[in-house]
Amino acid sequence: MVAVADSLVHDQLAKYRRDPAFVLQMLRHLQLEQNIITSGDIHVLSESLNLPRAKINGLIDFYSFLHRRPRGRYDVYFSDSITDHMLGSREQANLLCELLGVELGQPSANGAVTVSLTSCTGLCERGPGVLVNGTAIDRMDDARTREMASLIEANTPLEDWPLEWFVINDALRKKGPLLRYEPTRGKALERAIAIGPEGVLKDLETSGLRGCGGAGFPTWRKWQICRSSNRRQRYVVCNADEGEPGTFKDRALLHGYADTLLEGMTACAITVGASKGFIYLRHEYEFLRERLQHRIQRHRDTNLLGRNILGHHGINFDVEIFMGAGSYVCGEESALIESLEGKRGIPRVRPPFPVTHGYKGKPTVVNNVETFCYAAGILEHGPDFLAHAGDQPGWKLLSICGDCKSPGIYEIPLGTPIRDVLEACGAHGTQAVQVGGPGGTLVSSAEFDRHISYADLNTAGSFIIFDESRDMLDVAVNFTHFFAHESCGFCTPCRVGTKLMVQMADKVADGHGARLDIEQMQRLNKLMTQASHCGLGQRAAVPILTTYEKFTDSFERRMEDVEYKPAFDVEAAIERSRQIVSEEALSR
Ligand code: SF4
Repeated sequence: MVAVADSLVHDQLAKYRRDPAFVLQMLRHLQLEQNIITSGDIHVLSESLNLPRAKINGLIDFYSFLHRRPRGRYDVYFSDSITDHMLGSREQANLLCELLGVELGQPSANGAVTVSLTSCTGLCERGPGVLVNGTAIDRMDDARTREMASLIEANTPLEDWPLEWFVINDALRKKGPLLRYEPTRGKALERAIAIGPEGVLKDLETSGLRGCGGAGFPTWRKWQICRSSNRRQRYVVCNADEGEPGTFKDRALLHGYADTLLEGMTACAITVGASKGFIYLRHEYEFLRERLQHRIQRHRDTNLLGRNILGHHGINFDVEIFMGAGSYVCGEESALIESLEGKRGIPRVRPPFPVTHGYKGKPTVVNNVETFCYAAGILEHGPDFLAHAGDQPGWKLLSICGDCKSPGIYEIPLGTPIRDVLEACGAHGTQAVQVGGPGGTLVSSAEFDRHISYADLNTAGSFIIFDESRDMLDVAVNFTHFFAHESCGFCTPCRVGTKLMVQMADKVADGHGARLDIEQMQRLNKLMTQASHCGLGQRAAVPILTTYEKFTDSFERRMEDVEYKPAFDVEAAIERSRQIVSEEALSR
C-alpha cells in the first residue's frame, strides 16, 4: 500500500517535471486517487519540490477539495447553492446520510463514504447537483438518492453506475450570434494572421467587445496593453473558473464550443505575442476535461496549435489545462494567477495588473471563456458580429435558473430589460431577480424595466429568479453563508466580518433578531467595504442589507419585538476557561 502511494506521488512528480508551479495539480490527483493527502505524500513533495511542508499544508487547507484527513472512498458533495436549495438539495443530502447512517461532513466508520455540502457545482438549472469523486451528477431526487445509497453500500465502482446519470445536457434556449455560430475550423485564425495584430485590435475595438466576466474592460485594450509590453515572454489564460452560484454558461461553451474557445485563445496569443496558454478549469467541471483535452490534441494534429501554426513560420502557441481545487475567490484574475503558480489563490494588490505583471510576473491576458469565444466569432465574421437592432452594441449569455418554466442559457442583446428576459424564460409571479450572483444586484419587481448592460445591470451571467413563494430573507442568509464559506481568510475584516455576518443573519432568520442587529450589520458592512482586500469582502454584506432595504417585511415578520440579545454569548464562551482556572486554584 505504501509502495503504491509512493509510486503515485513519484508519477506525479515525473509528469509535471518536478515543477513546483504544478504542486496543486499533483495534490489534486493524489486526493482524487486516495481520498486523502497523507503526511508521507507531503514529505515527498516537500523534499522533491524544495517547498516547505508548511506551504504544502497551507495549500491543502486553502482549497475545499483537498484534505489531510481521510474522506470516504465515495466522496459525495451536494451543492448548497441557493438554486439547488430551492430544488431540494439539503433534503437529498439528509436522505443519503440517513440511508447510509452517516453524519453530514463525517466519513462513515468503515471509510466507505463521506457526504458533504459544497458552494456550487455549476448545475444550477438542473439541480440538485452532486459531485461523486469529482464527477458531476444532476437532478438528484428521492429515487436517485436511494439508488445511490444502494450502489455505495454494494461498493459498486463508479464506472458501473447508471450511465445516464453522468450525461449533462446543455439547455441552449435562445441563440444569438455566438450560440448560432458554426465556425469553419481555422478560419478565425487565418483571418487573424492575414490582418495582423493591428487589424485584430481594430476589429475588436470596432465590434465593441468587452470582457464578459463582469468587469467589462474593453477586450482590444487589454490585448493591446499586453502586446505593447517590452517583456519577451507573455501568456494567455482562459478563466474557466465560473463559480458564481447561478452561473453555468461557460460550462456549455466548454462543452459545445471548445474549438471556438481555442481559436479565440490562439488569435489572442498571435496578437499579443504569447507562446503559452492555460485553461484554468474549475474542479467541478472535471467531467469536461477529457473532451477538452481531445479538442486541444485535435488542434495540435491539424496545426491549429503547436509550432508554425497553419504553416506560418515562427507562430507558436500551445495550451495546457490547469485544474482548480475548489476556491471561489480564484475566479478573480490575480487570485487565479496565484493559483496557477501553485500558491493559495489570494488576490494580489493591484496595480500592477496581470496584463503587465501576470503569470510568473510576465504580461498575461486573462479573459473568460465567453470573451474568447466572441473574439473568435468577430475574427471570422468581422466586427459586425455583435451588431443588433438596439442602441447598445454587444450580446450577453445569461445562465437563467430558479423559478421559471425554461431554465437554461439565453443569449440576449445588451440593453434587454429584465421584464423581457422573464417573459422569454416563462417566469410568472416573480418577486425578485438576483443578477450577477450573490455579490451582484437584487432587482425587485418594481425595477423590472432595468436592463442588462454595462451601464445598468452588469453581470458575468448569473440570473436567478425568485417567485412570490420564496422568503427573500432565506435567500439572503444563504448568500451570507456562501461568502463566509468562500472568504479566503487573508484579511481580517473579511475573515472575521463574514463570520459575524452569518451569526447575525442566522439570528434574524431564527426569529431572535432585533433592529439593533440590522444596525450592527450596517456598521460592520461599512468596515468591510472600506478595509477588505478584495471584492468578496467588500460585497459580502450587500445581500442581507439590500434584501432588508427591498424586502423589509420579510425581516419584520421574524424580528422579535423585544430587547436586543447579543448573537455571541460571552459568558458561555468563557465558562470553560473559568472552570479550568477554578479547578487549578483548588488543586494548589
Ligand atoms: Fe480573502 Fe476576503 Fe480578504 Fe478577499 S476580502 S482577500 S476573499 S479574506
